Amino acid sequence: MAEVVGTIEPETIPATETPPMTDGFHLVIDAFKLNGIETIYGLPGIPVTDLARLAQAEGMRVISFRHEQNAGNAAAAAGYLTQKPGLCLTVSAPGFLNGLTALANATTNCFPMILVSGSSEREIVDLQQGDYEEMDQLNIAKPHAKAAFRVLHAEDIGIGVARAIRAAVSGRPGGVYLDLPAKLLAQTMDAAAGRKSLVRVVDAAPRQLPAPESVSRALELLKRAKRPLILLGKGAAYAQADAAVRELVEKSGIPYLPMSMAKGLLPDNHPQSASAARSFVLAESDVVMLIGARLNWLLSHGKGKTWGSPKQFIQLDIAPTEIDSNVAIAAPVIGDIGSCVAALAEGIGADFPKPAADWLAAVAERKNKNLTKMAATLAADPTPMNFHSALSVLRDVVKANPDITIVNEGANTLDYARSIIDMYQPRKRLDCGTWGIMGIGMGFAVGAAVETGKQVIAIEGDSAFGFSGMEVETICRYDLPVCIVVFNNNGVYRGTDVNPSGGKDVAPTVFVKGARYDKMMEAFGGKGYHVTTTKALQQALDEAIALGKPVLINAVIDESAGTESGRLTNLNPQSAASKK
Ligand code: ADP
Repeated sequence: MAEVVGTIEPETIPATETPPMTDGFHLVIDAFKLNGIETIYGLPGIPVTDLARLAQAEGMRVISFRHEQNAGNAAAAAGYLTQKPGLCLTVSAPGFLNGLTALANATTNCFPMILVSGSSEREIVDLQQGDYEEMDQLNIAKPHAKAAFRVLHAEDIGIGVARAIRAAVSGRPGGVYLDLPAKLLAQTMDAAAGRKSLVRVVDAAPRQLPAPESVSRALELLKRAKRPLILLGKGAAYAQADAAVRELVEKSGIPYLPMSMAKGLLPDNHPQSASAARSFVLAESDVVMLIGARLNWLLSHGKGKTWGSPKQFIQLDIAPTEIDSNVAIAAPVIGDIGSCVAALAEGIGADFPKPAADWLAAVAERKNKNLTKMAATLAADPTPMNFHSALSVLRDVVKANPDITIVNEGANTLDYARSIIDMYQPRKRLDCGTWGIMGIGMGFAVGAAVETGKQVIAIEGDSAFGFSGMEVETICRYDLPVCIVVFNNNGVYRGTDVNPSGGKDVAPTVFVKGARYDKMMEAFGGKGYHVTTTKALQQALDEAIALGKPVLINAVIDESAGTESGRLTNLNPQSAASKK
C-alpha cells in the first residue's frame, strides 16, 4: 500500500515505487489550508478524531472544546472578526445537533462559519437501518444554514470546501453546513490528482457596487431631511470599512446611533454619537439611514411608539430581500457596505446641507441631560454592589484599555453593560446578537482570544455563564487571556424569588445562594477572585489584565438588583397580556 500523504507541498512527497496516494482526511485539511483557514474549533470523536489529529500534525491550530455549541460559537466569532469562515468540527448526530445551534445563530447574525460534521453511512441512514449515530444531518441542517452540502467522493472535496467557503462569506454572510460521511474520509486517491482537485477560491466575497441611481435617491432624501439620523449595525462593523463609515458620518454631520455590536465603530465618545439620547432620536428623527442594520425586533420593527413621528428610511445592505421586510424603505442602496458608504460620502460635497442647527441642539441637550443623570447613578457606590456600580468599574477599565474585546451576555448584565460601557474600537464587542440568546459567552470569548491574541473580558450574568461555564477548562488548557466576570445575584434576573407554593424547592429562577464561581477557575489552574466591593473588583481586573491569563472574578451583586427579563419585560406573555 502506498503511503498516504497530504497534497499541498509536492516536494515533501517521498519517492515510492507506487504513486503516492492521499485520502479524504488530508484532502479536507489541505482544501481549508489552501484557502487560508488555519484554525479548527471543535470536539473530536467518531468519525473525525483523526481529522483533528492530522490537522494539528499538518500545522493547523485545533482548539478542542467541552461542548460543540461553544466550539460553534467560537467559530462564528472568528468568522465575524476575520471575514473568513470560522471552522467548527463535530462528530455525527448528537455532536452535530449541538453544533447546529451555533450554526443557526451564526446564520441569524450574518456571521460566516462552516460546520463540518462527520456522519454515518449514507446507505444505512437512508434506509433507516439503525446505524451508529444515525441521522439525516444534511436535511436537518438545511433550514438552519445559508447553504448545506454533502461530499461523497474524495475527488469532490476541493469543490465542496470551495462551495462552502463562497457560500459563507459572499453576499450576506452566514453559516454553511458541510457533511462528510465517515467513508469519505477514509477514501484514497492518487495524491497528484487530489492536489489538482483542490480549489483556491478567488475573490470569495466580491465587492458589490450600488446602482448610481440608488445612491442619488438616498442623497436626495438626506438633503431634504430636517431631523436626519444614522443607525449603524453590526453589518457595518463586519464589513471592515471603518474609515469610509467614519468619513460618511463626519462629512454629513448627522447624529448616529450604534447598535450594540456596532459600538466602537466610531468611538462612543464621538461628538455625533446620539447613544445617550437614543429614545429621543428614534422618536423624533424624520429620515433614518440604516447602515448594515435590520429593522427587526431590536428596533421595534421600525414602527410603533419607539419610532414616534413618521419616518422615511434609507437602507444600505447587501441583501436586497431585506428591504421592505418590516416597513417600506424609501431609498434602498444595495451593495457591500464599503462601496455603498463610499459612494454616498462622495456625493456629500461642501454644498451639501448640514443637519439643521435646532435638531443638533435638541439632540445635544437631551444627550447632556441623560449623561448627567447617568454620571450621578454611576457615582453611587452602594454595598452590596449593584449593576451600575460594578459596571462603572468595567467602563473605566475599557476606557484605559480600548483594545480589550468585551463579550457580554445576560439579561440585566447585558442591558446595563451595553449602555454603560463605552467602546472605542471597532469589533471589540460581541454579545447575544440578533436572537438575544444566552450561551454564547465562553465560545465567543475563546474565539476572540484565539483570533486577536489580545485580552478578552467576558461580562456574564450568573445564569448566562451557566450555559457554557465548563469551557473555563478550555480557557485554562490553552492558557488564553480571558477574564470572566460573573455578575452573581443568585439567580435568573434576581435571586429573591420565592416558591409560591411554600414547598421545599426554590423558585425556578433561583440558584444556590452565595455560589463561588471563582473556584471553578481555580479547579483548572486559573486564578479566581471573589469580590464584594468596587474597589476589590477594580483591583482584580487590574491584576487580570497585567497577568493576561485565565481569570474568573465572582462579583457579588445585590440579589434584589435587576428587573424581570431585563429590558424585555414586554416579551413575557403574562406581562404582555396584562397590558392589553
Ligand atoms: P444589528 O443587529 O447590529 O442591527 P443586523 O445583524 O440586524 O445588525 O444587520 C446586519 C445587516 O448587515 C444584515 O441585513 C446584512 O445583510 C448586512 N450586511 C452584512 N454584511 C454586509 C456587508 N459586507 N455589506 C453590506 N451589508 C452587510
